[in-house]
Amino acid sequence: MRVLVVEDDPDVGEDLSRALVDAGYVVELVDAGDEAWFRGDTEDYAAAILDLGLPRLDGLSVLRRWRESGRRFPVLILTARGDWTEKVEGIDAGADDYMAKPFAMGELVARLRGLIRRAGGHLSSAINVGRLSLDTGRVAAVVEGRTVRLSPLEYRFLEILSHRPGQPVAAHEIAEHIYGTAEAGDTNAIEALVTRLRRKLGAGIIETRRGLGYMLADD
Ligand code: CA
Repeated sequence: MRVLVVEDDPDVGEDLSRALVDAGYVVELVDAGDEAWFRGDTEDYAAAILDLGLPRLDGLSVLRRWRESGRRFPVLILTARGDWTEKVEGIDAGADDYMAKPFAMGELVARLRGLIRRAGGHLSSAINVGRLSLDTGRVAAVVEGRTVRLSPLEYRFLEILSHRPGQPVAAHEIAEHIYGTAEAGDTNAIEALVTRLRRKLGAGIIETRRGLGYMLADD
C-alpha cells in the first residue's frame, strides 16, 4: 500500500519514511506543498501524512484542494505542539486525524494503520440509533435513506456516541477515546468535529446536553 508523506524537515521525513517502510508500506516522500497537491491529485494513495508548514503551498491549502477535487484518502496532519487552532482548521479542511510534533513514531504508525483499515472497511454491519444508521463497512452514515460519507474521525465520533444510547458523553471523554489525551485543544477540536457533522447529517441527530456532553437523538 502506498502512503504519501509530505514533510519539509529532512530528518523528520527520513524517520517517517523508515518507520513506514518497516511497517510494510511503500512510501513517497515530497517536501513542498505544490508538489504534494499535484501528487495527491493525480495518484492513488492508501493515506497521506501531511505537515502543515510547507514551502510554496501550506498544508491546509493542499488538503482543501484535495478535498475540493474529490480526493478521499485518509489524511493525518502533523501540527505544531499545543496549537489547537491548527487542529480545528485541519479538521475543517477535511483531515481524518492529527498528531502534534514531536510525536512517538510507534503511535503514528498505529494510528495510520487504523485510518487505512477503517477507510477500507473490512467488516460490514450496521449500528442503528434513532434516525441514524452507521454503516461500519463503508464508513458511512445513513439518515432517512440518504447516505453520508464520513471521514474515519467523524465515524469514530459517532461510533462512540452510538455505544451509549440515551446517555451524554463528555467532550473530554470523547477526546480521550479518539486522541488518547484530553487537552483543552482536543475538546475544541471535538467541537469543530460536531459542527462539521451537523452540517453533513442535518439538525437533530447530535444533541448537546449543556455541561454534560453529546448524545445521539434516539427518538
Ligand atoms: Ca514543516
